[in-house]
Amino acid sequence: MSSLLPSTDWLNAAAQHHPERLAIVAGDKALSYAQLRDLVFRRSSRLAAMNLDPGSRVALIAENSLSWLLAAHAILMSGATLVPLHHRATPDDLRTQLRIVPVDLIIHDASATLPSELDAPLLALDALDATDAAAPESADIMVPPLPGETIAVDGDNTLVILFTSGTTGTPRAVPLNASNIHASAMASAQRLGLHDDDRWLCCLPLCHMGGLATMLRSLLYATTLELAKDTDIASLVSLLTTRHITLVSLVPTQVHRLIAEYNAPVKTSLRAALVGGGPIDARDLQAARELGIPVLPTYGMSEAASQITTLPLDAPLDALESAGAPLPGTELRITLDDGSTVAPGQPGAIEVRGPTLTPGYLNANAAPLFGNDGWMRTGDVGHLDARGYLYVHHRASERIVSGGENIDPTEVERALRAHPDLSDVAVFALDHPEWGQQLCCALVVDPSHASHIQRSSAALVELSDGSLYQSLREFCRERLSTFKIPRRWFLTDAIPRTPSQKVRRHRLADLAARVGQ
Ligand code: ATP
Ligand code: MG
Repeated sequence: MSSLLPSTDWLNAAAQHHPERLAIVAGDKALSYAQLRDLVFRRSSRLAAMNLDPGSRVALIAENSLSWLLAAHAILMSGATLVPLHHRATPDDLRTQLRIVPVDLIIHDASATLPSELDAPLLALDALDATDAAAPESADIMVPPLPGETIAVDGDNTLVILFTSGTTGTPRAVPLNASNIHASAMASAQRLGLHDDDRWLCCLPLCHMGGLATMLRSLLYATTLELAKDTDIASLVSLLTTRHITLVSLVPTQVHRLIAEYNAPVKTSLRAALVGGGPIDARDLQAARELGIPVLPTYGMSEAASQITTLPLDAPLDALESAGAPLPGTELRITLDDGSTVAPGQPGAIEVRGPTLTPGYLNANAAPLFGNDGWMRTGDVGHLDARGYLYVHHRASERIVSGGENIDPTEVERALRAHPDLSDVAVFALDHPEWGQQLCCALVVDPSHASHIQRSSAALVELSDGSLYQSLREFCRERLSTFKIPRRWFLTDAIPRTPSQKVRRHRLADLAARVGQ
């Protein structure tokens, strides 16, 4: 696609047309679009003074903060590509990611633990913030250009390179260009509607798609982004009830915690609460709706610049079990190994086509993402119903085959999550000489039921008898076919999850393989 999108003008345009509108609220700080443009312009001038050419890559490794947002906007305004990396990533992980995506500058805060011997120069986020203290007439701060005078970026130019969550292995580097981000924002607005006074609460890591999308969309819509400082449920509910938040993006564990902690209706200004990024329990969504939270299940991925499907606001209640329908402009199909498309109700590989999709991974050895016909393989398995709503079953790579039977780990987890003694559960597989794979389950016992459980310092402790063991097996027998009942059970203090709260099944298998050795 060669359309010219004035992507670096997005902030200038918002500031010109809506100078007084609130752009960002973070704690007790609030910036209008005019103020935001001024602060961002100072920072982008500072970056320009460091000889960053348009097309350079700048890594941003810092925790969520107003400074993060200002730096990210400045990187985009300077025409460089934003490469956000997780501030809690280990030095080894950061080294791997910077090898996959070499950068020209690394902006970091004190929360990041950087690897030694980096190839790129470093700039402390504090030092970038210090441009605010410089006098406006300071030599290296230029007058903000008028909209249209800044670098117009071709729709094909890469605006951001995001890493996937690394749930299934080494994270993959996903470049997204201005056209992808623009298409995704417009399609989302078509599904959710767009109001001048919208305020989107960001309580997810800004370095992953779900969080970053809230920043990019608020900018494109010239609406308000509210950044949550604390992401515990009480703080979120306090923001939701006091700040006129109209939109929020949540991951399923946040909804689960919300309904565990609140049992009376929560009065908010929410129009929609997107819930996605991992398997969702429809019972949690139902309970959240009863609390007055207008949850909308969503299926998305970094490769698609976030949402692929979202439930329409007026969909019937029984559709809460699904992940909704494709956003306008996005096509979805379910295929079998031979490439044929299946009838509604039949499971198969979920494939997607549309303008939000990345051109392809930057990792040298990544498997091809697209077939010859432009359809992207998501790696997920699911089905469509007759209404065109998508049901996501599991990742193709996480399907467990035990004794020749196919098992969807998320189905077993969903059943077990209803057990009253458990606060978290994850199903995984261990290699087994006879059955190929053996179905295993890791459990976190609800603290109020944990008195009879012996604590251990080991990450996993096998549970092979006792009342909890008997109760779990009985519970499964009433709800699951025999081959879907876990054969081995492990207690743990916390299920290992990615920063996006997705279960690390491979990590559980590694830990379990060591038990009893
Ligand atoms: P990696 O690709 O590195 O293994 P990841 O796939 O978890 O990590 P993301 O791009 O953050 O990285 O997540 C996209 C994936 O999240 C989807 O492919 C899907 O497996 C899962 N997912 C997203 N939404 C849903 C949903 N509503 N239901 C079930 N799974 C979902
Ligand atoms: Mg993925």
